Amino acid sequence: MASISKIKNYLMGKGMAAFLPALSRHSPETLIAMMDRMSRVGIEKMTKEHKGTPEDLERRIDAARGFFEMAKRAFPRLSKGTQRRLAFNFFFNTICVGDEVRETYRAQYGETPPFFLLMSPSMACDLRCPGCYAWKYPKDQSLSREKVAEIIREARDDMGIYFIAVTGGEPTCWPPLEEIAAEFDDVFFMVYTHGQRIDKAMAKRFAELGNIYPAVSIEGDEVFTDARRGEGAYKRVLEAMDNLRDAGVLFGYSLTHTRQNHDVACSGEFMDTMIGHGAAFGWVFQYIPIGRDPDLSLVPTGAQRVERRERILAARKNKPLLVFDFWNDGDSVDGCIAWGRKYLHITARGYVEPCVFVHFAKDSIHEKSLGECVRSTAFREMRERAPFHEDRRLPCPQIDHPHILRELVDKHGMFPTHDGAEDIIGNHFDFLCQTANSFAHALAESDRRQAHCRDCAVGATCRQNG
Ligand code: SF4
Repeated sequence: MASISKIKNYLMGKGMAAFLPALSRHSPETLIAMMDRMSRVGIEKMTKEHKGTPEDLERRIDAARGFFEMAKRAFPRLSKGTQRRLAFNFFFNTICVGDEVRETYRAQYGETPPFFLLMSPSMACDLRCPGCYAWKYPKDQSLSREKVAEIIREARDDMGIYFIAVTGGEPTCWPPLEEIAAEFDDVFFMVYTHGQRIDKAMAKRFAELGNIYPAVSIEGDEVFTDARRGEGAYKRVLEAMDNLRDAGVLFGYSLTHTRQNHDVACSGEFMDTMIGHGAAFGWVFQYIPIGRDPDLSLVPTGAQRVERRERILAARKNKPLLVFDFWNDGDSVDGCIAWGRKYLHITARGYVEPCVFVHFAKDSIHEKSLGECVRSTAFREMRERAPFHEDRRLPCPQIDHPHILRELVDKHGMFPTHDGAEDIIGNHFDFLCQTANSFAHALAESDRRQAHCRDCAVGATCRQNG
């Protein structure tokens, strides 16, 4: 039975991978109507299964709708290889085939496996950016090509994971990257890259492969990008984006929000620049004080984090760009996604971290299978405890509820995965608690303001909220 269903799925996927690109060339209106239909069906399913508040549901629907809008916009300009792989790998494998495998896993272990996997196969990088946590890890150890292939095989075949994110280090400095993408051509790879090495030839290879989707790092404008990544970095990022756009690759940007780049990074002008260079999506992270000597002055204030959230939510409604906000989207994904709830991170040394920003581990992928690491006692306990707050906008056990992470690390004897990682629950613990309080207060104040504006009878002349 299982093999008949596998063959059926395979043939359907193949058909879809051929059909959607042809449709995009010959009848784009039909393709758009189909995507609208898929979006409606997905949203109906999400609404039926939703257990949180109506506001949480609204955010989830906005994010899902944003995704389909992005796909509709981007699809026609993509290379044939990218169209085929996007249709086959994402729409079909991730959603349909992966769902079936996830069901089997659920029946066996009583819980849903992670949806995606983040790997740092190597910490090698040709830049030296201040504040980058990649620096803190030793550079001399990498995952071998064989080990990475073994992990992906297990993730795909046993857990239905068809979405692998790759970071580092700099993934384009890890030689087997393209070979792995070619070997696992049924999987899609989101690659966080500094973009400095993406010339026309590399962009063309990505377009032919069709399953590498880069998120190119940028710090806002030229001043901030060059200050962090070196002179000329900003121009090279834009060139990389132009190369990817012209070759027909689906790509986006990745940005670290700091107290200093706040105005630029959250501005509509910045997003318009990214759209102009062909970015279809954006990932926004915020500076986290990880390691021995982090620069605490770069951590955004609570009010800045709230403002970022508001700007991104507004952009999702009125810009042709799908922006994800790693900390502020808790209410779109039912809280923290780490600990194998939806994802986990494997370091270049093989340690299995709950999240790329939580640098503690208990297990190594060199000693246990991926499944055994996902089902470890510590990870299971955190999955059972999550979400860590009834307000999903406060999702993080590290930056919103630092005491939870500290308690868990102590209880399960998790060890820091690099020198200085322990400082986040030691020397910087009080700072983190203050920042968490500042954000919670700023959020409450924003809610109060918005509630006032909703109910206010005075209208445009009301000055209460400035
Ligand atoms: S641990 Fe924090 S940063 Fe990591 S996924 Fe959870 S909420 Fe996000």
